[in-house]
Amino acid sequence: MGRERDLPPCDGVPVTDMGDAILIPGLVDAHCHLEWGLMGGLVPDAGFGDWLGAFIHRTAGVTPADREAGAHWAAIVALRNGTTTICDSGPGGFAAAAAAATGLRAIVHLEVFGRESGAAAREKVMHHGEALLRARDDAGPLVQVGVSPHSPYTVGPALWGEVLADPILGSGSVASHVAESPDEVLLLEEGVGPLVDTITSVGRDPASWPGGGPGVVSRLAAAGALRKGLIAAHCVQVGADDAGVLAEHGVRVAHCPHSNARLSCGDAPVEALEAVGIPVGLGTDSPASAGAYDLRDEARWAAEARARRGVSPVAADMLAMSTIGSARVVGLGREIGSLVPGKRADIVAVQPAEDAPVDADPALAVLDPRARVVASWVDGRQVLSADGPVLADTGSVNAAAREARARIM
Ligand SMILES: [Zn+2]
Repeated sequence: MGRERDLPPCDGVPVTDMGDAILIPGLVDAHCHLEWGLMGGLVPDAGFGDWLGAFIHRTAGVTPADREAGAHWAAIVALRNGTTTICDSGPGGFAAAAAAATGLRAIVHLEVFGRESGAAAREKVMHHGEALLRARDDAGPLVQVGVSPHSPYTVGPALWGEVLADPILGSGSVASHVAESPDEVLLLEEGVGPLVDTITSVGRDPASWPGGGPGVVSRLAAAGALRKGLIAAHCVQVGADDAGVLAEHGVRVAHCPHSNARLSCGDAPVEALEAVGIPVGLGTDSPASAGAYDLRDEARWAAEARARRGVSPVAADMLAMSTIGSARVVGLGREIGSLVPGKRADIVAVQPAEDAPVDADPALAVLDPRARVVASWVDGRQVLSADGPVLADTGSVNAAAREARARIM
């Protein structure tokens, strides 16, 4: 943190005067779903199992083309909100092209669902490996492609194991939803509850994870489903012993406080996770359950959740969670997430409100909802200016999104 006057001289380097703007590291969204960008306001808040039932029902008619239009629209929304890196999961992988067109850095995970075992599981994994290689070919230089076994309630231990053992899928980034809701715990421990009702109502069997102790984390650990670098979204239903188990396995956590609050999932024990050395970052999830890809807003939700847990939130800590914290979660902590020599130039300029306490608490001024993101650079290239996105074709993206939203409605 510092002032312009403290910078060393930059002779011979072009200088852009950003006025009173505050420069911060580009925000890193550690868990989001760009393909569901157009679902805002369409799925009512409810307990998690009932919400998922409504989501499945509401998205039954949403086509891949609609999800593609949603991903391109969502990438622009994220960019305008100061995000420079997204860690996405989705069934179609459309976020890869959307990120490339917008200039965002990205890790895009192709979602896997199912309870297959044996030859059927290997066949499904092979199919996904081929899809991943195709998506990797199409991705730009700033876009990685990985895999997401969706969750312990939608993916069985045999298929999950095949994903991790596969030379293509298992060698890259892996993300999942882990221990998100009380309904997930009820499903795994007792095979009952609203989540079971939702899954059986669409003709599927809920996945079963025998072994381990109580809760979700110990069952995943017992089945060998946790591995170093796993990006585990939510981690709300995490007991006293679970944080140590997650740390021991090198799991990283994407904290999504807005979605957790809307779906009555509870409060993630962030301080307990951080205390055992687990990297914790912030994720916006999707407008189907939370806000619209706005990490500064998510940081304010994180601050409120921290206060509810009896810990005074510090703005600088909340901003750090959405920059270097998230960068470590997605495996890019050495490349991005802070403004230090040697890292890639992912930088965002934020214009603070006139009466913001810029000198006393610049992080608080950045998180103030009245502050505006006025410019962004990814890998040294400007991707957002005061006039809007520099690379994306905003007009045609908005037109396609409007048409898709009208079909979905
Ligand atoms: Zn999610």
